[in-house]
Amino acid sequence: MDIILLGPPGSGKGTQAKMVADKYHVKHISTGDILRENVRNGTPLGKEADSYMKKGQLVPDQLLVNIIKDRLAQPDVKGGWMLDGYPRTIPQAEALEKILPSLGQKIDVVLNIDVPDKDLVDRLSGRRMCKCGVSYHLQFNPPKVPGKCDVCNGELYHRSDDQAEAIMKRLDAYHKQTQPLIDYYNKKGITATINGSGDIKKIFAEVSKALDKKV
Ligand code: ADP
Ligand code: ADP
Ligand code: ZN
Repeated sequence: MDIILLGPPGSGKGTQAKMVADKYHVKHISTGDILRENVRNGTPLGKEADSYMKKGQLVPDQLLVNIIKDRLAQPDVKGGWMLDGYPRTIPQAEALEKILPSLGQKIDVVLNIDVPDKDLVDRLSGRRMCKCGVSYHLQFNPPKVPGKCDVCNGELYHRSDDQAEAIMKRLDAYHKQTQPLIDYYNKKGITATINGSGDIKKIFAEVSKALDKKV
């Protein structure tokens, strides 16, 4: 099954994607994680992307299209994938549509996680991340040992773009550039909207229900 996760920053895409990947045996592909790894390793892509990410702006479409094209052609995603953080613009969605047929892949479902803006600021400012891609929250989803990742024991950090100014810019970028995708996929009749407020496990039950209809 090939799944797209849509939702504003902080809506719980990464949190839900980890659980979906385990239950449905699909590969979790997070473009944010891929970009952050490139920034950490100082690759040419990382150097170019960093200036946009720090400011809370989207990285130019062409860089993302190249990343996705390479990633979806790798053998480990043949059993199915879940895209988290891609597409974020209409041109990215159109590019994906051109790439998929040659790979023998198609989008089965678009999950749209809906959370009001007022909750997103609290979620993002209290988020703590691990390099392995798992995210926690100081109050809403704390790790077992403060400051350490439950999965890999790595040191948790506060993302530089999870601070007030960049958060506001990211929400603005979401509303202007990414939200139009909801309509774009609604018209294709492949969207399921999930209420992303409340208990993480309860939301996952809703996500599972939507996916079970597709398998
Ligand atoms: P969030 O957790 O807020 O949804 P991500 O980790 O998905 O954020 O992305 C972090 C940053 O990486 C974005 O603010 C943006 O600068 C960049 N980025 C990630 N995916 C994309 C994309 N598909 N197009 C453009 N920029 C992207
Ligand atoms: P995204 O990938 O969409 O940016 P994350 O999965 O990283 O979002 O979640 C953002 C923050 O909110 C994290 O700190 C996470 O632990 C927390 N979080 C995730 N789901 C919920 C929820 N249902 N209720 C409260 N906090 C949540
Ligand atoms: Zn970890």
